[in-house]
Amino acid sequence: MGSEEFYRIFGLPQEEFINYEQYMRCVHLDDREALGRDVEAALSSGEPFDRLYRIVLPDGSERVIHSRSEVTLDETGKPIRMIGTAQDISARRRAEEALQFTQFVSDHSPVAVYWMDSEARITYVNDAATRATGYSREELLSMSVPDLNPDYSPETWPEVWKKRKEHGSQTFETHHRAKDGRIVPVEVTAYYLEFQGKEYNCSLVQDITERKRAEEALRQKEEQLRETQKLEAVGTLAGGVAHEFNNLLTGIIGYSELLLKKSKRDPLLSKRVEEIKKAGEKAASLTSQLLAFSRKQVLQPQVLDLNEIVTELNETLRGLMGEDIVMMTSLSPGLGRTKADADQMRQIILSLASNARSAMPRGGKFILATENAELSEDDESGIAGAHAVRHVLLTVSDTGSGMNAETLSHVFEPFFTTKEVGAGTGLGLASVYGIVQQSGGRIQVSSEPGRGTKFQIYMPRVDKPASPPKRAAARKQRSGGAKTVLLVEDTIQVRQMVRLFLQRAGYTVLEASNGFEALQVAKQSKQPIHMLLTDVIMPEMNGPDLAARLAEDRKNLKVLYMSGYSNHPVVQESVLKSGASFIAKPFAPEALLQKVREVFDTPAKVGSQRKPHRVRT
Ligand code: ADP
Ligand code: MG
Repeated sequence: MGSEEFYRIFGLPQEEFINYEQYMRCVHLDDREALGRDVEAALSSGEPFDRLYRIVLPDGSERVIHSRSEVTLDETGKPIRMIGTAQDISARRRAEEALQFTQFVSDHSPVAVYWMDSEARITYVNDAATRATGYSREELLSMSVPDLNPDYSPETWPEVWKKRKEHGSQTFETHHRAKDGRIVPVEVTAYYLEFQGKEYNCSLVQDITERKRAEEALRQKEEQLRETQKLEAVGTLAGGVAHEFNNLLTGIIGYSELLLKKSKRDPLLSKRVEEIKKAGEKAASLTSQLLAFSRKQVLQPQVLDLNEIVTELNETLRGLMGEDIVMMTSLSPGLGRTKADADQMRQIILSLASNARSAMPRGGKFILATENAELSEDDESGIAGAHAVRHVLLTVSDTGSGMNAETLSHVFEPFFTTKEVGAGTGLGLASVYGIVQQSGGRIQVSSEPGRGTKFQIYMPRVDKPASPPKRAAARKQRSGGAKTVLLVEDTIQVRQMVRLFLQRAGYTVLEASNGFEALQVAKQSKQPIHMLLTDVIMPEMNGPDLAARLAEDRKNLKVLYMSGYSNHPVVQESVLKSGASFIAKPFAPEALLQKVREVFDTPAKVGSQRKPHRVRT
């Protein structure tokens, strides 16, 4: 019935293989019926037979058979015989399946796979490659590497190939251009391989857009940190210098004021002294900005409505901007409150406005906006996230010249200015920065040359009603009368000057250079002491401690503190927070006298914390 090979395929000795039924018994049960039908059909029609089917060998193993037969018919159309071939294609079938499986595995890899030859032609890709690039498999297979990778060109490819061959495998970062033109950063691991005498390169490609973004965010964060640390260091230095200068300036301004009064009858002398005083005052204003920058300024925070502050300043700002600049405000009606020093907030707005005006010599728009905003604590990018903290945001923007990256990176440094000598001090933004930091806020700036500038100031939000506006200081002039002031100050120039002024205003002055001396002086004094005017930070015994000791047997003692150091914890805790009376150094003599009168005018406190109240008629 068949050749030897036929029997070998079926795994049966020839003598057992006798007829069609026997043959059919070898066929796999699932294929048997269909095969029988096809054989019948071929025999009745005389068409050639061509089919795959499975057989089961006596040992239970399966084989795939490809069988082709011709049917011979007699003249009446009856089939006489069927002659054909049967081929065992199991091995080929397995190889095909293995190949399909390989493609399947490769297509389900999350990594894009590309094979290319030495001519840079792409010869194989998986599904991930089509997903990553947006090209179909056919499109990719018709492309070459430089079509996909903008970093390569047909000219440089031979060199690239040479390197691949030398290194065997390489991992590097490069770019792919997707079908829509997007440039995607990728990491490639490339292998050089030889297969059946031909050279190939297999590249595994991963999209690293996310990684790049994270790296960039980290870089920016580090940059910001460095910037903050730099400003911190400069601030410490500036603060130290400013503090020393404050005491000296208190002397310079005070003595020139004294001289001024004495030189009334000599106009020339009077004019010169006036110049000294003016110079001193200018220096004092610079030191106060330096102190602001180094966050060592005396802040008197209160609960504020920023909308009110902006509205209050409206007229001033319009005047400052002049005619060519259009000013616009957008104040959020439901704006939350913040806690800050009102004068300092005004200072910030004026400073930013003055910069905006300089940046718009030919006119433009100046915009002030307020709104509630959330700021993530740990995210410097400021995008609200899990740890969002409620803030009040003040945005100040202009359509002026803008700044380049270099200028932008220095704006908050003290003495950094791009203005002509004499036109700018470079202290404006430095003090803005310091005030915002000291108030627990955050400031961000964005700007591009020719596209204007935007400052965003985030102030922490508080849930308290705004404090009533401070009563205008009493203007009543009153002589010192029979009042006695105990003056305690360790810097001799300041002490002498303050004494002179108090005496000229009619006060009796007792002096001491430290706390212990003050206690001594007070004990020996024949007259009652009405006010203690004392420095806050002194060696051995500080101002508040001295005040407490003196007040033990002087229930009506008034206390006025003075200091050039605001950020000192003692000043913060014992003086500013307790609401005690305070004057910041350096001060002009008139300001001091004004303050002394104010404190005397305030009714005596019963206990230490009772708020003063007054009935006005
Ligand atoms: P000053 O105004 O004395 O120069 P600032 O600290 O206020 O000092 O500003 C520093 C520098 O920042 C300015 O000289 C200017 O170059 C730049 N700058 C500040 N604000 C703006 C702005 N709104 N537009 C363009 N540049 C600005
Ligand atoms: Mg300025």
